[in-house]
Amino acid sequence: MFSQLIMFMGCAPAIVFEPTGNDAQDANLVAIRVSTNYQQAKFYPGKLPFKFRCVRCYENLGKTSQEVDIQSISCAQCGHKYLPEQQNWRQKAAYSSLFIEVMGIFESEALPADKLLSGLQKLSGLKWQYFYADQSSWKI
Ligand SMILES: [Zn+2]
Repeated sequence: MFSQLIMFMGCAPAIVFEPTGNDAQDANLVAIRVSTNYQQAKFYPGKLPFKFRCVRCYENLGKTSQEVDIQSISCAQCGHKYLPEQQNWRQKAAYSSLFIEVMGIFESEALPADKLLSGLQKLSGLKWQYFYADQSSWKI
């Protein structure tokens, strides 16, 4: 069962995986959604506005409140071209062509188990990571 591959943390309420018809219980409904496998990777901020920093000199590259083409950002201070593959997103944003979303749970109250990340890596040949997003910045 997929729920065994996600660790629910702390004060996560009584989680429901199937609608019960009881509004109070269904308020705790958690669901999993897999995005389209996009032809080009997409950038998703976990929260808006998102602050970009240069990975070389740590200069603030500005904030964005909307979707941006992060392939075209360069640092005004040192000239370094922003490469999303070099960015340490610190679970605050992501750059990928495929997303698996855990919906209906507060940020940081769900973590992928190592077994899930290693299984995805084995299937895809790619390293998988996770990040937290609030509903206002998320739309896969
Ligand atoms: Zn720089």
